[in-house]
Amino acid sequence: MTSVLLSGCHVVTMDGDRAEFGSGHVAIEENKITSVGAGPAPADLDMAGTRIVDASGCLATPGLVNTHHHLYQWASRGMAVDSTLFGWLTELYPVWARIDEQVVASAATAALAWLARTGCTTTTDHHYVFPRGGGDVLGATVAAARSVGLRFHPTRGAMDLGASSGGLPPDEVVEDIDTILAATSEAISAFHDPEPGSMVRMGVAPCSPFSVTGDLMRAAAGLARDRRVRLHTHVAETADEDKFCAERFGCTPVEYLDSLGWLADDVWLAHAVHLDDAAIARLAATGTGVAHCPSSNGRLGAGICRTADLLAAGVPVGLGVDGAASNEENSLIGEVRQAVLMARASGGPQALSVRRSLELATLGGAKLVGRVDEIGSLEVGKLADVALWRLDGLPHAGITDPVAALVLGARPPLELLLVNGAVVVEHDVVQRVDETAVAQAAAAATAALR
Ligand SMILES: [Zn+2]
Repeated sequence: MTSVLLSGCHVVTMDGDRAEFGSGHVAIEENKITSVGAGPAPADLDMAGTRIVDASGCLATPGLVNTHHHLYQWASRGMAVDSTLFGWLTELYPVWARIDEQVVASAATAALAWLARTGCTTTTDHHYVFPRGGGDVLGATVAAARSVGLRFHPTRGAMDLGASSGGLPPDEVVEDIDTILAATSEAISAFHDPEPGSMVRMGVAPCSPFSVTGDLMRAAAGLARDRRVRLHTHVAETADEDKFCAERFGCTPVEYLDSLGWLADDVWLAHAVHLDDAAIARLAATGTGVAHCPSSNGRLGAGICRTADLLAAGVPVGLGVDGAASNEENSLIGEVRQAVLMARASGGPQALSVRRSLELATLGGAKLVGRVDEIGSLEVGKLADVALWRLDGLPHAGITDPVAALVLGARPPLELLLVNGAVVVEHDVVQRVDETAVAQAAAAATAALR
């Protein structure tokens, strides 16, 4: 029995042939896609009790996959607005030292609700600040994702290299290695669901070369591989980090990760802006993925990721909004546009096509989180994570190519966003939480940090 039928829309499938249908359909039964194609739904589909959506004037795409975020940062937006990464971090670490379960719950709910409004159906999170006495801040993010309705891949982050040991963060926001490994293992046991169709999968994510010891990096990789979960970290984000690694380790950030057993196809890295040709070749040879975060890189003046070179080498690339404290817009469809503009600003008009950029946010993201068999394209048997964008209003009506309208135009209203077959956004409003109440709680969370 068909649950939902989207009919009469332009459909971008991202299937093996990258098929598109000018006026097509997407049929869904419970949490799976049962039919995708040109024209109306097949006559033999059981339509009893089906919700039929007239999707004319709309574009259906796979739901977008966000591969890098720090949800708690929603409560610290608009600070250190003209700083480098290291300057921004130095101003924000003491603010983040005051977060607790309530602040994170409110910030994460707002960040997730806005992500949904920008077409995201699956998001990762990288949470690495665990103040003593702050309560279950990671659990608060999992609960927030459940309340908004998104598929969630949280990672248990960590910092154990404080300023007194030569790291960047103040000692008050770092933990010791035994505490980190025990808490990470507990979080995997508590939240990780490895089953098909899973709504929550955990990962392990020590923060960065300048806030984590090599001992923790090695131990975290061992733990993740024992528990069969994925690995994530920040790397090669800025020239300052390059300098830090040269002085402390005598090598580049990517060479440093390589020495720690951190280049492999179960790893994806945020940013990877400052890469030489050897680093790109090494990422490609090992199948290590990159979460490209163009708006955050621009906001912090970090540099421009060599996206076209990464893709030409065969490196898996996805897109990420990064935390809202370094990207106040926090729009995932906005990152699709920004990726095109950054790639072309440095590499010319052929550097990244609009369709390839949309592919990075769908199939590319699915690959980085290890779920390309379940999400990232509209194909029969895949999970029903679908974005239906309205393109017949003032900002988009008449644009010749609907994909160009989505990628290069203003953020379109979402007629519908389905996650696992369930409605999360309708008529551009999130459905499971009250937007006004969420905004007020987020403002209160920010006020609590001042
Ligand atoms: Zn980040």
